[in-house]
Amino acid sequence: MQSRYVSLGCLFAVCSVASAFAQTATSESRATTVSQAEQSQIAQQYVSQRLAFWQQRLKLDEWKISVVPARRSELKPNTLGGIRWDKTKKSAVIWVLDPAEYRTPFRETLDDMELTIVHELVHLELTSLPRSEASRGNEEHAVNGIAEALLGLNREKQ
Ligand SMILES: [Zn+2]
Repeated sequence: MQSRYVSLGCLFAVCSVASAFAQTATSESRATTVSQAEQSQIAQQYVSQRLAFWQQRLKLDEWKISVVPARRSELKPNTLGGIRWDKTKKSAVIWVLDPAEYRTPFRETLDDMELTIVHELVHLELTSLPRSEASRGNEEHAVNGIAEALLGLNREKQ
């Protein structure tokens, strides 16, 4: 299921890319806390590396983009990420659901986080287009399709 949320003012898009993942949290034992911290670190590294790759691919090199992990409670309901940008400063912040919130195998979690990055970068790519409340849903639909196609092609090549 894909739902979408892109606010007016062209500064903020909050997106849901597959909310089948990351359902309710279960209690974590102390033993898994360490590995969760490790996973979090690995995920952070992976995400920065994939951000650099896709930013270059999408020719968004002139943008200064940072990725911030976000807890579910910090994101809009039923979303897995979001982006806020400043066109004049060419800077953007992408929020990606924290890996600790996922209940999928770690590999799938990383893949999904990458999809969120690509999805938000495609929104950034479209910032120069006119946007309105009415175009919001269409944009989200297009962004979902483009992001999935890009990732699919890239993974086929590997
Ligand atoms: Zn979106």
